Amino acid sequence: MRRTKIVEVLKSEETGKEFLVKGWVRTRRGNKQVSFIAMNDGSTIHNLQIVADVELFGEELLRRANTGASLAVVGELNQSQGTGQNVELLAKKIEVIGDCDVNEYPLQPKKHSLEFLREKAHLRFRTNTFSAIARVRHAMIFAVHSFFSLKGFVNIHTPIITSSDAEGAGEMFQVTTLNLDNIPKNDDGAIDFSKDFFGRPTNLTVSGQLEGELAAMGLADIYTFGPTFRAENSNTTRHLAEFWMIEPEMAFYDLNDNMDLAEEFLKYLIRYALDNCADDLNFLSNRLKEEEKNKKADEKSMELIEKLKFVLEDDFVRLTYTEAIEILRNSKPNKKGQFKYPIEGYGADLQSEHERYLVERHFKKPVILTDYPKEIKAFYMKLNEENKTVRAMDVLFPQIGEIIGGSQREENYDKLVARMEEMDIPVEEMWWYLETRKFGTVPHSGFGLGFERLMLFVTGMGNIRDVIPFPRTPKNAEF
Ligand code: ATP
Ligand code: MG
Ligand code: MG
Ligand code: MG
Repeated sequence: MRRTKIVEVLKSEETGKEFLVKGWVRTRRGNKQVSFIAMNDGSTIHNLQIVADVELFGEELLRRANTGASLAVVGELNQSQGTGQNVELLAKKIEVIGDCDVNEYPLQPKKHSLEFLREKAHLRFRTNTFSAIARVRHAMIFAVHSFFSLKGFVNIHTPIITSSDAEGAGEMFQVTTLNLDNIPKNDDGAIDFSKDFFGRPTNLTVSGQLEGELAAMGLADIYTFGPTFRAENSNTTRHLAEFWMIEPEMAFYDLNDNMDLAEEFLKYLIRYALDNCADDLNFLSNRLKEEEKNKKADEKSMELIEKLKFVLEDDFVRLTYTEAIEILRNSKPNKKGQFKYPIEGYGADLQSEHERYLVERHFKKPVILTDYPKEIKAFYMKLNEENKTVRAMDVLFPQIGEIIGGSQREENYDKLVARMEEMDIPVEEMWWYLETRKFGTVPHSGFGLGFERLMLFVTGMGNIRDVIPFPRTPKNAEF
C-alpha cells in the first residue's frame, strides 16, 4: 500500500476507504477503551486524528505511540464525531517506526517560547509554527520564480565567492584557502595571497547586483535569487549574517519603471500567499493574536490577514527623501515628541523607526522614498542633474521598514568613473564593470528584496531568526 500525505487524507471524501499514513505523534489522549492520536506529517498545519481501539492494539503499543514517536498507520477513513476535524482514521494496523522517550523529548505538547525553540532549531520543524513558516517560505520561493518567469526574466546564478565588494561597505566574510596557523607574508608583512587558491583576496558575496548588471547588459531582464553574506553586527530582529536576496536588473528601465516593477512584484507575492497559504496564514494569525493579548493597546499591531490585504489596496506613496525629512522633522512620534534617533536634518540616513513612522502613522500606506543624498548611497546609483542626490529608491513597509533597496544605475562611463574616484573605489580593478558602460551602454535599473524581510511581513513573525530554517547570526552558528 502506498503512503498518502495527511493533507490529501483530510481532503478526501472517500469514507470507508483504507489509507496508509506515516508521521509523528503530536499528542495522545483517551480512556480505557479508545486512544486518540493526533498525527502530523508536515504536509499541512492540521493533524489527522487516529482512533485506536485499546483492546485491539494493547496498552503497551499505544503507550509507545506517544508524543514525538514516528508511526505508520493503516486505517479506514470515517466521518469524525468530535469537533475540530471532519474526518478521522479508524486504525487497523499501527507500527511504531521510531520510539521517543517522552521524558527526554524537548517538544512537549504545551506551547514553547520562540527563544526556547531557537535553541532546539534541530527539532523545531516538528512544531506548527515552524512547519507553517517553512511551507509559506516554499510558496514564496515558488511565487518569486513564477512572477519573473511570467514576465520573461532570465534567472542568473551569480557567484558566491567573489572579489568584488558591491557596496564598498566592507562588511564581508573573507574566503581563503590559506592555513590560518601559518599565513604566508610578503616582505612588507602583508598577507601573500599569491599562495592562495584564488591568488587574490576573495570574500563571500554581499550582493549579486554587479554581476547581475553584466547579465542584464545582454539579456535585458534578469534576476538573481541567492544567498548573501554580511559580516555586520546582526544582533537586530531585521538583520542576519546570511540571508537570501532577490535582485532583478533590467536594461532600458528608468527609476519609475523600477518602482512600478517593485510594487507589482510585492503585490503579486502577497496576493500569492493569501491565495495559496490560507491554512498556514490563519494559524500564524491566531498565534499572533495570542501574543498580542499581552501588549498595550498602542503597541498592538494589525491583524495579519488584514495587514496583508492592506498592502494590496492602494498605490504605494512615492515621495523624495527630502520631502520625507521635512515630514519627520515636523512630526511628534510620541508624548516626548522625539524619535529614539532624532532626525538631524538633511543628509541623515533613516532608521527603521523613521521608516515605519512614515508608513504606519503618517501615510498609512507602503511608501517608496526616492532621490537620497549621494553621500549615503552606493557609487553605482545614477546622479541627478543637481549633482547632490541619486536616483535611489527604498520601499518601506509596515512592521519592517526597508524591505527593498534599489536604484537606476549610472550608465555614463565618465560620470561613473568620477563617482568611483570620489568614493575611493578602485577603478582599475572594476574594468569588467566599466566595460559595459564603454560598449553599448544603456539606462538600466534594479533592486534587491531581502527575502527574509518579506517572510517577516508575510508571516507576521517578529524576529528574522524565526523565518529562515537555519539562522546565521553571531550567536547562531552551531550547525
Ligand atoms: P538596512 O538599512 O536595513 O540595513 P541595507 O540598506 O543595508 O538594509 P541593502 O544593501 O539595500 O540593505 O540590501 C537590499 C535589501 O536586503 C534590503 O532592503 C533588505 O531587505 C535586505 N537586507 C539587507 N541587509 C540584511 C540583513 N543583514 N539581513 C537580512 N536582510 C537584509
Ligand atoms: Mg544595512
Ligand atoms: Mg538601508
Ligand atoms: Mg538599502
